[in-house]
Amino acid sequence: MASEYFLAFGEYLKSLFGEKVYKVTLDAGFSCPNRDGTLSSDGCVFCDDSGSFSRLYSNSLSVREQLLTGMEKIRKRYHANKFLAYFQAYTNTYKPVNELKKIYDDVFIDDIVGMSIGTRPDCVDDEKLDLIASYNTDNRFLQVEYGLQSVHDKTLQFINRGHDFKCFQEACRKTKERNLKICAHVILGLPNETHEDMMETAKTLAGMDIDGIKIHMLAVMEGTKIHQMYKDGLINLMSEDEYISTVCDFLELLPPDMVIQRLAGNGKREIRIQPRWLGKKLELVGRMEKEFERRGTRQGSKYKK
Ligand code: SF4
Repeated sequence: MASEYFLAFGEYLKSLFGEKVYKVTLDAGFSCPNRDGTLSSDGCVFCDDSGSFSRLYSNSLSVREQLLTGMEKIRKRYHANKFLAYFQAYTNTYKPVNELKKIYDDVFIDDIVGMSIGTRPDCVDDEKLDLIASYNTDNRFLQVEYGLQSVHDKTLQFINRGHDFKCFQEACRKTKERNLKICAHVILGLPNETHEDMMETAKTLAGMDIDGIKIHMLAVMEGTKIHQMYKDGLINLMSEDEYISTVCDFLELLPPDMVIQRLAGNGKREIRIQPRWLGKKLELVGRMEKEFERRGTRQGSKYKK
Protein backbone atom coordinates (compact mmCIF):
# COMPACT_ATOMS: atom_id res chain seq x y z
CA MET A 1 0.00 0.00 0.00
CA ALA A 2 1.46 3.36 -1.01
CA SER A 3 1.34 6.21 1.44
CA GLU A 4 2.22 9.88 1.14
CA TYR A 5 3.09 9.86 4.85
CA PHE A 6 5.64 7.08 5.11
CA LEU A 7 7.79 4.84 2.95
CA ALA A 8 5.81 1.61 2.80
CA PHE A 9 7.59 -1.70 2.22
CA GLY A 10 5.32 -2.69 -0.67
CA GLU A 11 6.09 0.52 -2.54
CA TYR A 12 9.78 0.16 -1.85
CA LEU A 13 9.89 -3.39 -3.25
CA LYS A 14 7.87 -2.26 -6.25
CA SER A 15 10.44 0.44 -6.95
CA LEU A 16 13.18 -2.22 -6.85
CA PHE A 17 11.47 -4.89 -8.93
CA GLY A 18 9.08 -2.94 -11.14
CA GLU A 19 5.98 -4.70 -9.82
CA LYS A 20 4.39 -5.80 -6.58
CA VAL A 21 6.35 -8.42 -4.64
CA TYR A 22 4.44 -10.82 -2.39
CA LYS A 23 5.81 -12.27 0.81
CA VAL A 24 5.58 -16.01 1.47
CA THR A 25 6.03 -16.77 5.18
CA LEU A 26 7.94 -19.91 6.08
CA ASP A 27 8.42 -22.09 9.12
CA ALA A 28 11.61 -24.13 8.73
CA GLY A 29 11.27 -25.84 12.11
CA PHE A 30 13.73 -23.62 13.99
CA SER A 31 13.72 -23.26 17.75
CA CYS A 32 14.90 -20.35 19.90
CA PRO A 33 17.67 -20.26 22.55
CA ASN A 34 15.37 -18.21 24.73
CA ARG A 35 12.84 -21.03 24.74
CA ASP A 36 14.82 -24.25 24.52
CA GLY A 37 16.63 -23.74 27.82
CA THR A 38 19.93 -22.48 26.37
CA LEU A 39 19.32 -18.94 27.63
CA SER A 40 15.99 -19.60 29.30
CA SER A 41 12.97 -21.77 28.78
CA ASP A 42 10.50 -18.95 29.47
CA GLY A 43 10.96 -16.95 26.28
CA CYS A 44 10.40 -13.22 25.95
CA VAL A 45 7.52 -12.16 28.17
CA PHE A 46 5.28 -11.35 25.18
CA CYS A 47 6.07 -14.43 23.07
CA ASP A 48 3.42 -17.09 22.53
CA ASP A 49 4.11 -20.66 21.51
CA SER A 50 4.16 -19.91 17.81
CA GLY A 51 7.36 -17.82 18.07
CA SER A 52 5.71 -14.88 16.29
CA PHE A 53 4.63 -16.98 13.31
CA SER A 54 1.41 -16.14 11.49
CA ARG A 55 0.80 -19.62 10.29
CA LEU A 56 -0.45 -19.79 6.73
CA TYR A 57 0.88 -23.13 5.66
CA SER A 58 1.55 -26.23 7.67
CA ASN A 59 5.10 -26.69 8.88
CA SER A 60 4.74 -30.39 8.23
CA LEU A 61 5.64 -29.33 4.68
CA SER A 62 9.25 -28.79 3.65
CA VAL A 63 10.45 -25.24 3.04
CA ARG A 64 10.25 -25.82 -0.72
CA GLU A 65 6.70 -27.21 -0.41
CA GLN A 66 5.60 -24.30 1.79
CA LEU A 67 7.08 -21.92 -0.73
CA LEU A 68 5.44 -23.54 -3.75
CA THR A 69 2.07 -23.84 -1.98
CA GLY A 70 2.24 -20.24 -0.83
CA MET A 71 3.28 -18.92 -4.24
CA GLU A 72 0.52 -20.89 -5.95
CA LYS A 73 -2.18 -19.48 -3.67
CA ILE A 74 -0.92 -15.91 -3.98
CA ARG A 75 -0.48 -16.27 -7.74
CA LYS A 76 -4.10 -17.37 -8.15
CA ARG A 77 -5.47 -14.65 -5.92
CA TYR A 78 -3.42 -11.66 -7.07
CA HIS A 79 -1.88 -12.73 -10.41
CA ALA A 80 1.46 -12.31 -8.67
CA ASN A 81 4.79 -12.87 -10.42
CA LYS A 82 7.43 -12.04 -7.85
CA PHE A 83 7.89 -13.30 -4.32
CA LEU A 84 9.98 -12.79 -1.22
CA ALA A 85 10.76 -15.78 1.00
CA TYR A 86 10.27 -14.79 4.61
CA PHE A 87 11.62 -17.00 7.41
CA GLN A 88 9.41 -15.82 10.22
CA ALA A 89 8.93 -18.47 12.92
CA TYR A 90 11.28 -18.46 15.91
CA THR A 91 15.03 -17.86 15.34
CA ASN A 92 15.89 -18.57 11.73
CA THR A 93 19.66 -18.67 12.09
CA TYR A 94 19.65 -21.00 15.10
CA LYS A 95 21.24 -24.04 13.47
CA PRO A 96 24.76 -24.95 12.36
CA VAL A 97 25.79 -23.22 9.19
CA ASN A 98 25.79 -26.41 7.05
CA GLU A 99 22.13 -27.00 7.97
CA LEU A 100 21.26 -23.37 7.34
CA LYS A 101 22.76 -23.64 3.89
CA LYS A 102 20.49 -26.56 2.99
CA ILE A 103 17.44 -24.61 4.19
CA TYR A 104 18.29 -21.33 2.46
CA ASP A 105 19.41 -23.09 -0.74
CA ASP A 106 15.88 -24.46 -1.07
CA VAL A 107 14.41 -21.01 -1.43
CA PHE A 108 15.97 -19.73 -4.61
CA ILE A 109 13.70 -20.95 -7.35
CA ASP A 110 12.24 -18.95 -10.25
CA ASP A 111 10.28 -15.84 -9.27
CA ILE A 112 11.84 -15.61 -5.80
CA VAL A 113 13.51 -12.20 -5.79
CA GLY A 114 14.81 -12.19 -2.25
CA MET A 115 14.89 -13.57 1.23
CA SER A 116 14.23 -12.07 4.64
CA ILE A 117 15.41 -13.89 7.75
CA GLY A 118 13.97 -13.14 11.18
CA THR A 119 16.37 -13.82 14.03
CA ARG A 120 17.93 -12.64 17.30
CA PRO A 121 21.06 -10.47 17.30
CA ASP A 122 22.87 -13.01 19.48
CA CYS A 123 22.22 -15.81 16.96
CA VAL A 124 24.38 -14.59 14.09
CA ASP A 125 28.13 -14.85 13.65
CA ASP A 126 30.62 -14.22 10.86
CA GLU A 127 30.10 -17.62 9.29
CA LYS A 128 26.31 -17.41 9.23
CA LEU A 129 26.32 -13.86 7.90
CA ASP A 130 28.84 -14.87 5.22
CA LEU A 131 26.45 -17.62 4.18
CA ILE A 132 23.50 -15.20 3.94
CA ALA A 133 25.67 -12.72 2.04
CA SER A 134 26.59 -15.45 -0.46
CA TYR A 135 23.00 -15.27 -1.79
CA ASN A 136 23.35 -11.54 -2.39
CA THR A 137 23.61 -11.80 -6.18
CA ASP A 138 21.40 -11.07 -9.21
CA ASN A 139 19.96 -7.92 -7.59
CA ARG A 140 18.23 -9.95 -4.92
CA PHE A 141 16.74 -8.35 -1.83
CA LEU A 142 18.58 -9.90 1.14
CA GLN A 143 17.52 -8.83 4.60
CA VAL A 144 18.16 -9.89 8.19
CA GLU A 145 15.40 -8.95 10.63
CA TYR A 146 16.55 -8.50 14.19
CA GLY A 147 14.16 -8.63 17.11
CA LEU A 148 15.24 -5.77 19.34
CA GLN A 149 12.02 -4.27 20.79
CA SER A 150 13.73 -1.41 22.67
CA VAL A 151 17.16 0.17 22.89
CA HIS A 152 16.93 0.29 26.69
CA ASP A 153 18.75 -2.46 28.55
CA LYS A 154 16.47 -2.13 31.58
CA THR A 155 13.52 -2.97 29.30
CA LEU A 156 15.37 -5.79 27.53
CA GLN A 157 16.07 -7.29 30.91
CA PHE A 158 12.49 -6.90 32.07
CA ILE A 159 11.07 -8.56 28.98
CA ASN A 160 13.65 -11.35 29.25
CA ARG A 161 15.26 -10.89 25.85
CA GLY A 162 18.51 -12.51 26.97
CA HIS A 163 20.68 -9.99 25.09
CA ASP A 164 21.46 -6.32 25.44
CA PHE A 165 21.46 -3.38 23.06
CA LYS A 166 25.21 -3.65 22.50
CA CYS A 167 24.67 -7.13 21.09
CA PHE A 168 22.21 -5.65 18.55
CA GLN A 169 24.69 -2.92 17.59
CA GLU A 170 27.40 -5.51 17.04
CA ALA A 171 25.11 -7.73 14.93
CA CYS A 172 24.14 -4.70 12.82
CA ARG A 173 27.77 -3.76 12.28
CA LYS A 174 28.63 -7.25 11.04
CA THR A 175 25.52 -7.41 8.88
CA LYS A 176 26.28 -4.09 7.21
CA GLU A 177 29.90 -5.11 6.60
CA ARG A 178 28.41 -7.74 4.30
CA ASN A 179 26.13 -5.33 2.52
CA LEU A 180 22.97 -7.00 3.76
CA LYS A 181 19.83 -5.08 4.61
CA ILE A 182 18.69 -4.79 8.21
CA CYS A 183 15.18 -4.53 9.56
CA ALA A 184 14.73 -3.85 13.30
CA HIS A 185 11.63 -4.95 15.22
CA VAL A 186 10.39 -2.72 18.02
CA ILE A 187 7.43 -2.92 20.38
CA LEU A 188 5.67 0.20 21.63
CA GLY A 189 3.98 0.21 25.02
CA LEU A 190 6.36 -2.17 26.78
CA PRO A 191 6.04 -2.28 30.58
CA ASN A 192 7.74 0.58 32.44
CA GLU A 193 8.63 2.47 29.25
CA THR A 194 7.72 6.14 29.10
CA HIS A 195 6.90 8.05 25.94
CA GLU A 196 10.38 9.53 26.18
CA ASP A 197 11.94 6.04 26.32
CA MET A 198 10.12 5.05 23.13
CA MET A 199 11.20 8.24 21.36
CA GLU A 200 14.76 7.52 22.49
CA THR A 201 14.47 4.15 20.72
CA ALA A 202 13.35 5.94 17.55
CA LYS A 203 16.18 8.48 17.70
CA THR A 204 18.81 5.84 18.39
CA LEU A 205 17.68 3.62 15.51
CA ALA A 206 17.45 6.69 13.28
CA GLY A 207 21.14 7.27 13.94
CA MET A 208 22.14 3.74 12.93
CA ASP A 209 22.59 2.24 9.49
CA ILE A 210 19.26 0.44 9.50
CA ASP A 211 17.21 0.00 6.35
CA GLY A 212 13.79 -0.94 7.67
CA ILE A 213 11.65 -1.18 10.75
CA LYS A 214 8.68 -3.19 11.98
CA ILE A 215 6.65 -1.58 14.75
CA HIS A 216 4.33 -3.56 16.95
CA MET A 217 1.94 -2.65 19.72
CA LEU A 218 2.40 -4.67 22.90
CA ALA A 219 -0.29 -7.33 22.77
CA VAL A 220 -1.37 -9.66 25.54
CA MET A 221 -1.47 -13.19 24.18
CA GLU A 222 -2.96 -16.05 26.11
CA GLY A 223 -0.51 -18.04 28.20
CA THR A 224 2.38 -15.55 27.98
CA LYS A 225 4.16 -13.95 30.94
CA ILE A 226 2.60 -10.65 29.92
CA HIS A 227 -0.81 -12.30 30.21
CA GLN A 228 -0.11 -13.13 33.86
CA MET A 229 1.13 -9.57 34.49
CA TYR A 230 -2.02 -8.26 32.84
CA LYS A 231 -4.21 -10.47 35.05
CA ASP A 232 -2.26 -9.18 38.08
CA GLY A 233 -3.00 -5.61 37.04
CA LEU A 234 0.64 -4.81 36.36
CA ILE A 235 0.29 -3.84 32.70
CA ASN A 236 -1.11 -0.62 31.28
CA LEU A 237 -1.93 -1.01 27.63
CA MET A 238 -2.12 1.94 25.26
CA SER A 239 -5.48 2.89 23.86
CA GLU A 240 -5.91 2.94 20.09
CA ASP A 241 -5.64 6.75 20.07
CA GLU A 242 -2.48 6.68 22.15
CA TYR A 243 -0.93 4.05 19.90
CA ILE A 244 -1.71 6.02 16.74
CA SER A 245 -0.27 9.19 18.20
CA THR A 246 2.85 7.38 19.49
CA VAL A 247 3.49 5.73 16.12
CA CYS A 248 3.22 9.10 14.37
CA ASP A 249 5.64 10.63 16.90
CA PHE A 250 7.99 7.68 16.32
CA LEU A 251 7.88 7.87 12.51
CA GLU A 252 8.49 11.62 12.54
CA LEU A 253 11.88 10.93 14.14
CA LEU A 254 12.98 8.27 11.62
CA PRO A 255 14.89 9.02 8.41
CA PRO A 256 12.51 9.48 5.45
CA ASP A 257 14.22 6.65 3.59
CA MET A 258 13.87 4.02 6.33
CA VAL A 259 11.41 1.47 4.99
CA ILE A 260 8.35 0.97 7.18
CA GLN A 261 7.67 -2.74 7.02
CA ARG A 262 4.92 -2.92 9.63
CA LEU A 263 2.93 -0.48 11.72
CA ALA A 264 1.06 -2.92 13.94
CA GLY A 265 1.26 -6.66 14.38
CA ASN A 266 -1.94 -8.66 14.72
CA GLY A 267 -0.85 -11.64 16.74
CA LYS A 268 -3.06 -14.70 16.43
CA ARG A 269 -6.64 -13.52 16.93
CA GLU A 270 -7.73 -16.71 18.72
CA ILE A 271 -5.28 -16.16 21.57
CA ARG A 272 -5.16 -12.37 21.67
CA ILE A 273 -6.59 -11.15 24.97
CA GLN A 274 -5.84 -7.47 24.47
CA PRO A 275 -5.97 -5.02 22.81
CA ARG A 276 -9.27 -5.85 21.22
CA TRP A 277 -8.99 -3.02 18.72
CA LEU A 278 -5.86 -4.52 17.17
CA GLY A 279 -6.49 -6.45 14.00
CA LYS A 280 -8.10 -4.01 11.58
CA LYS A 281 -4.71 -3.09 10.19
CA LEU A 282 -5.88 -1.08 7.19
CA GLU A 283 -8.24 1.01 9.30
CA LEU A 284 -5.50 1.60 11.83
CA VAL A 285 -3.01 2.72 9.19
CA GLY A 286 -5.71 4.96 7.69
CA ARG A 287 -6.15 6.63 11.07
CA MET A 288 -2.37 7.12 11.36
CA GLU A 289 -2.40 8.83 7.97
CA LYS A 290 -5.26 11.07 9.07
CA GLU A 291 -3.24 11.98 12.16
CA PHE A 292 -0.25 12.91 9.98
CA GLU A 293 -2.56 14.98 7.79
CA ARG A 294 -3.94 16.78 10.85
CA ARG A 295 -0.41 17.49 12.10
CA GLY A 296 0.94 18.46 8.70
CA THR A 297 3.87 16.07 9.19
CA ARG A 298 5.09 12.69 7.89
CA GLN A 299 7.86 10.17 8.43
CA GLY A 300 11.13 12.07 8.83
CA SER A 301 9.58 15.48 9.63
CA LYS A 302 11.59 15.69 12.86
CA TYR A 303 14.53 13.55 11.83
CA LYS A 304 17.89 15.03 12.73
CA LYS A 305 21.07 13.55 11.25
S1 SF4 B 1 13.42 -14.40 20.62
FE1 SF4 B 1 11.55 -14.53 19.41
S2 SF4 B 1 10.97 -16.71 19.37
FE2 SF4 B 1 12.51 -16.43 21.00
S3 SF4 B 1 11.31 -16.17 22.86
FE3 SF4 B 1 11.76 -14.10 22.07
S4 SF4 B 1 10.02 -13.57 20.73
FE4 SF4 B 1 9.94 -15.80 21.14
